[in-house]
Amino acid sequence: MTVRGVAVLGSTGSVGTTALRVLARHQDRFRVAAITAFSNTELLEAQAAQFKPSYVGVCANGTSPHPGWIEGSKCLVEAATRSDVSIVINAIVGAAGLDATLAAVTAGKRVALANKETLVMAGALVAEACRVGGGELVPVDSEHSAILQCLAGRSCEDVRRLVLTASGGPFREWDSDRLAKATIADALQHPTWKMGRKISIDSATLANKALEVIEAHFLFGLSYDQIEVVVHPQSIVHSFVEFVDGSVLAQMGAPSMELPVLYALTHPDRVQDDAMPRFDPVAWPALTFERVRTESFPALALGIAAGRRGGAAPAVFNAANEQAVNLFLENKISFMDVARAIESALSSCGDDLADTRFAVMKADAAARRHVLEMFAC
Ligand code: NAD
Ligand code: MG
Repeated sequence: MTVRGVAVLGSTGSVGTTALRVLARHQDRFRVAAITAFSNTELLEAQAAQFKPSYVGVCANGTSPHPGWIEGSKCLVEAATRSDVSIVINAIVGAAGLDATLAAVTAGKRVALANKETLVMAGALVAEACRVGGGELVPVDSEHSAILQCLAGRSCEDVRRLVLTASGGPFREWDSDRLAKATIADALQHPTWKMGRKISIDSATLANKALEVIEAHFLFGLSYDQIEVVVHPQSIVHSFVEFVDGSVLAQMGAPSMELPVLYALTHPDRVQDDAMPRFDPVAWPALTFERVRTESFPALALGIAAGRRGGAAPAVFNAANEQAVNLFLENKISFMDVARAIESALSSCGDDLADTRFAVMKADAAARRHVLEMFAC
């Protein structure tokens, strides 16, 4: 069996550490060839000692990396395009992952994509880079992995609609008075998934589900009218695909990122993994589904509208959200201000095209600036 080299970008994060746990169980098929982190050099050092990758990168400058480690954000593209790497797990958070995704698919690699922000801000560019370079995107996001597994090679003409499930986040049952006073600690308390801080806040505002609707649009080539969202508090059904003949398939399992990571590495094949969390239907006697309370979570509709608007609007949505989440996590704005920031940024920018990297980054910067000015930060 040929052993494929894997780069794990963001190896110290929630998805990154999950990926290394999965890779450690499949060393007959995969070799960790490169790892990168932002600044957690202690964990990176332990990972380097365990996996002995040929490339280790630290993005933050001034973190005095070990001899032989590469410092600075250029390490992402370098790691993603190495000749000993055939699969890039992009587990970076936010727009910082864009160049690595573009470079990897341009170099003909498979990108196992957790970094959904990349596809939201520059979906058309990433698709074009895949076409030119021969690379491919395989989703790591659990909903999109579920859809890919249900599709099992069928084309989008066979699909009537996708239904993405959403846990509803920690504020599923909160009314608007309570939401106005939600604290950082409240928002980080995700009921079913343990994740990084940014995506945890995105799950509380439902901006995450808007990012996922746009991600699904670009990954599967379906119109926004064909992508719906339903709340499913148990996070056991990871999404549904309804086919044109009326058949509905769902993919299910415990809320764990291990399976989506493994499947992104092996797709369309499946490999045996006895350590994977097992599913016991009797442990889940009641799986429930609800409509989204859209009026309490305006970020969802704002994001989907940005997706429909197209051009630079999704990049503006993504950047305004990232900037506002940072401000919320710094305790500078309130929870509901995050959606206000997104709405304001989208009404003042976002009408440009997003047909070049430069145009995307310009829209991204304008949206961030708009949000900072809005709150006088
Ligand atoms: P995290 O914050 O736990 O980890 C992020 C990783 O990226 C870390 O290794 C960090 O060092 C690195 N990083 C952060 N900023 C960087 C920068 N500017 N430059 C380079 N590296 C940087 O985040 P996470 O929860 O693992 O999420 C990562 C991505 O996966 C996000 O796009 C998220 O939406 C997506 N995702 C996460 C989950 C989950 O279960 N955590 C599920 C689905 C999708
Ligand atoms: Mg998801």
